[in-house]
Amino acid sequence: MKVLVLNCGSSSVKFQLVQTDEASAAAGRVHALARGLVENIGGLAILRYEAEGRKPLKETGEILEHKIAVERILGLLTRPDVGVIQDRSEIEAVGHRMVHGGERFKTSVLIDDDVLSGIEDCIDLAPLHNPPNIKGYRASRDLLLVPHVAVFDTSFHQTMPREAYLYGLPYVLYQRHGIRRYGFHGTSHRFVSRRMAEILGRADDPTLRVITCHLGNGCSITAIRGGHSVDTSMGLTPLEGLLMGTRAGDIDAGIILHVMVTEELGVTEANALLNKHSGLLGISGVSNDMRTLLQAEADGNDRARLAVDVFCYRLKKYIASYTGVLGGVDAVVFTGGIGENSPVIRARSMVGLEALGLRVDPARNDAARAVEADISPEGSTSRVFVVPTNEELLIARDTYHIVAGLSAE
Ligand code: ADP
Repeated sequence: MKVLVLNCGSSSVKFQLVQTDEASAAAGRVHALARGLVENIGGLAILRYEAEGRKPLKETGEILEHKIAVERILGLLTRPDVGVIQDRSEIEAVGHRMVHGGERFKTSVLIDDDVLSGIEDCIDLAPLHNPPNIKGYRASRDLLLVPHVAVFDTSFHQTMPREAYLYGLPYVLYQRHGIRRYGFHGTSHRFVSRRMAEILGRADDPTLRVITCHLGNGCSITAIRGGHSVDTSMGLTPLEGLLMGTRAGDIDAGIILHVMVTEELGVTEANALLNKHSGLLGISGVSNDMRTLLQAEADGNDRARLAVDVFCYRLKKYIASYTGVLGGVDAVVFTGGIGENSPVIRARSMVGLEALGLRVDPARNDAARAVEADISPEGSTSRVFVVPTNEELLIARDTYHIVAGLSAE
């Protein structure tokens, strides 16, 4: 089955055309035929496209709305010189990344009118993310008359117990407005934790304890027992938890009230302060990009060093606390652009965790870049791994399972 995976942002559409069947979906070995990205929709857009055995392509042109972007993508997928299918009717299903599924959507689901209105009900919880996701669905629904499936960032974390998801606020805010921890990056945490369980030969073991660290521009960490999320660092919004590229992560909630008064900030400015001007960028004043910061640190920039230190310290604190949550840990997994590619960050955030049985082998760690690898010393009982994430493949797999009439994991 050929599944088109779409991830629509406010001015972008990321896509992959994935070939999957029962055996490859079960083995987690689905296969991307083509992929790409349309950016800056609403103006002079840039379309990047690459397909197996074809020259990568970059086009610039006016694309005013998501529907036209999807049209252009379908045009490339079927174009004789660069395409990978002859006709759009070869696409049998579409999988959509949806950010927020609230408490209703605990698994991936076939989209119908009732589901669509349920996703619309979650707009209040994710006002920036759900509307473009929905727009992408509406655009592609009109162009591809096949089953469409929603795969939510939040659904993997719906197994968290109450004590993990409830904030210390008046309970009525949870009842009235759904104020609670939802968590995000669920597709990534689910993908790498499942792969980890397979690597350890414990795919069906309900006692397996895994901590997954997704470290990209956004960062989050999840405690997983027997394949189920039991706690995660992002909260009602993707702002809580670890330090991120431009997001603050955990702060004393009182700070924002204090700063709004002392700096005379409105809600819009406060929002920008927390989401766009904080994190690695805010502390360093240099960059939100970890590679740039590590270079600046090597060149002697002290604020860059400080930002990296705060990042690693915060991560270590979470790994230790989730080890407590799980009553020990069988494996810690690093993923995302930083987690997959940076031996330095992995090593620095694990220093001091030896007492918990967690160790990194320097040579194995240095050698592991963007590949699956065991980076703990030979014979360790608690293991440390790098497992590259692949959210699109998991979306394709869920879509395949649902459309093929099988239940999604
Ligand atoms: P996104 O969350 O947007 O998908 P990625 O997962 O691609 O982002 O992660 C981007 C981050 O990964 C950036 O901070 C980038 O600097 C970092 N990164 C990529 N390669 C390396 C590397 N070799 N060393 C350190 N950081 C890296």
